[in-house]
Amino acid sequence: MSLREALAAPALGLWRLVRPLLPRIDGDFRILMLHDVPVSQQNALRQLVSGLAARNLLIDPAEAERRLGGGGGKPGVLLSFDDGFASNGEVAEAILTPLGARALFFVCPGLMALTGAAQRSAIAANVLRGRRAAPEGLMDWTGVERLAAAGHVIGSHTLDHRRLTELSSDQRAEQIGSAAEALTARLGSRPAWFAYTFGDITSIDAAALAEIGRHHRFCRSGVRGANSAAIHPLALRGDHIDLAAGAAWRALTVEGGLDPRYRAQRRQLDGMVAEG
Ligand SMILES: [Zn+2]
Repeated sequence: MSLREALAAPALGLWRLVRPLLPRIDGDFRILMLHDVPVSQQNALRQLVSGLAARNLLIDPAEAERRLGGGGGKPGVLLSFDDGFASNGEVAEAILTPLGARALFFVCPGLMALTGAAQRSAIAANVLRGRRAAPEGLMDWTGVERLAAAGHVIGSHTLDHRRLTELSSDQRAEQIGSAAEALTARLGSRPAWFAYTFGDITSIDAAALAEIGRHHRFCRSGVRGANSAAIHPLALRGDHIDLAAGAAWRALTVEGGLDPRYRAQRRQLDGMVAEG
């Protein structure tokens, strides 16, 4: 057992004692971040989503937008999927739709324009950064249109999955603006949502957030925390959830038990939107 798994259960027990004592904002919600979901992890996803649905915690993108506009409600959880992997379309049909769950899907139109080996090598280079080979290909436009028709919301994840902080201002404008144009042309409405690539605090800056805000209403980061109308809509928090982790670690993620470690990063993110 890894150290993480060994510590998860006692940490969860402690967090469940402490959390009721902390203030919460009416209408707060978390956004879980998922990526490709290999067949080996689909049962874990089904358990996660059906558990949230059974406890009436799942909210859809429209409800998240209502809450960001000041609407109240008990704590909620919104699902999001990054990168547009083919398995996202499969789990949407096999797991989300039967449970009545509607999610956000963040896609990269430039990578979707590639096929076969060219797409795989672009995924390995831009998405996985050489850490591993591409596990699978991406959904095509038909798959993305099917998600939209089923009530899911499609957002932008840059044109080619580039790290925004590594680009010139022209390249940055192209990665954000052209992706929004491609999604608008294909889906018929401008994408309200954006998720910046890699999600960590070093992959974003004030200039990139300002550019994102020219094309989108909401930007989800990968910085952990709860969302509400008190958070700037371009500085939304996201919680990466590891479906390969044990149940206690997953519960700790979903219940916000990792939030205290991200306080400084949340402050940094809030500072960037204030600056831009
Ligand atoms: Zn990504």
